[in-house]
Amino acid sequence: SYDSDRLKKANSANILHPASVVADVATKGPRIIATGKGCFITDTDGKRQLDGVGGLWCMNIGYGRPEIGDAMKKASDQLGYFHTFGGHSNPAQIELAERLVAKMPDHINKVFFGSSGSDANDSLMKIVWYYNGLRGKPEKRKIISRKQAYHGTTIASASLTGLASFHRNFGLPLTEVKHTSLPHYYREGKPGESEQDFSNRLARELEDMIIAEGPETVGAFIAEPIMGAGGVITPPEGYFPAVQKVLKKHDILFICDEVVCGFGRLGDWFGHRVYDIRPDMIATAKGITSGYFPLSAAFISDDIWNVLRDGSATLGAFAHGFTYSGHPVGCAAAMANLDILENENLIGNAAEVGAYLHKSLAEALGDHAHVGEIRGHAMIGAIQLMADRDTKTGFDLKHKIAARCVAAIGELGVIYRPLPTADSIAFSPPLCLTRGEADQMVDALHKGFHQVMGNLSP
Ligand code: PLP
Repeated sequence: SYDSDRLKKANSANILHPASVVADVATKGPRIIATGKGCFITDTDGKRQLDGVGGLWCMNIGYGRPEIGDAMKKASDQLGYFHTFGGHSNPAQIELAERLVAKMPDHINKVFFGSSGSDANDSLMKIVWYYNGLRGKPEKRKIISRKQAYHGTTIASASLTGLASFHRNFGLPLTEVKHTSLPHYYREGKPGESEQDFSNRLARELEDMIIAEGPETVGAFIAEPIMGAGGVITPPEGYFPAVQKVLKKHDILFICDEVVCGFGRLGDWFGHRVYDIRPDMIATAKGITSGYFPLSAAFISDDIWNVLRDGSATLGAFAHGFTYSGHPVGCAAAMANLDILENENLIGNAAEVGAYLHKSLAEALGDHAHVGEIRGHAMIGAIQLMADRDTKTGFDLKHKIAARCVAAIGELGVIYRPLPTADSIAFSPPLCLTRGEADQMVDALHKGFHQVMGNLSP
């Protein structure tokens, strides 16, 4: 048992919390999560909940799997740490790289390891610059991201992020980063416009931006297969083919951010396979270890690798890397995680139980007057809140309806996540979710949602 009050006081005295109103946590004290098993977590006050968000979209295999700790202990006992700079390596990163690259498209065969999704995107951005410099196009530096996207929190990756709250007060984004339209058909499509027409319009807008900036200054475009924290935005029909055509025409690389979608969340190993994306670079983190160890893996195509190989000897070494790149304990954790995903068919389960969850949610809430749409795929999704779905009028965001729903559902034993900018309620449970647990998620959502919506002031 824990002395919860003492821990809360000590926490408030000593910790600057990420992503919080600083004073709030300091005065109220945090919620302290102590243990986890399967899809459930328990806090130091003894409250147990089904984690319908998988931590921060990362707990893929489920909590409390001893195999991960066993693998990490073995790796730690064997070596614990050695750097991978200047041509050094370790058996764990070599084996992990082999297993990961085998799951990638044929034209992607090289991986660079780091510690977080943010650093994976940072690394890929720098590789775009390095690659274009080596091939004599150093001015091809701009990266086009999308409004509302989330790609991380470091100076470069927060710039890629398209949420105003991550820019405000920091003087971001960097001037190299531009943001094109959000591909949310339900909210951004014009009356009478088909999904395919909407996608074509967005591709034209992207091309207009590229031409206005000057194609010789644009190095890459970055997108998630399904945009996660930005609202769980599924790509409209024909979106990625239309976008990729434009990028190809202007010699612009495609960075696919698989930090959320990768490692089974969409019922396949990676989201680019579900949406027919042919990326030049791929960022992964989160589900690569199911959050048990901070590890990222950034992948590059053979074409990029060839330029790096030929250029670096004469034009300057690849002067980029982290103390923890290829960490042997992290790589061992990732391999134990892959073993569980593979041996227990958790990705098949994500597809099957994920489809069941979406169907059940649609039955429970799909027709509700305040639900605009329920979107997503397999083990990720979001419920779009609407003040009036007939006129497609959203709520005034200051009422924080999504957060109020999530609080009510939390009291009923299930964690969901409010996405304030999208006015949506998101979920991304562990991939080991059972049908019974899916029922529990739907039940709590249904009850909590009706509680809040029943109490709306007119
Ligand atoms: N990319 C995406 C799509 C993410 O959702 C996140 C984190 O939520 C990141 C990158 C950044 O990852 P990290 O928090 O590990 O730096």
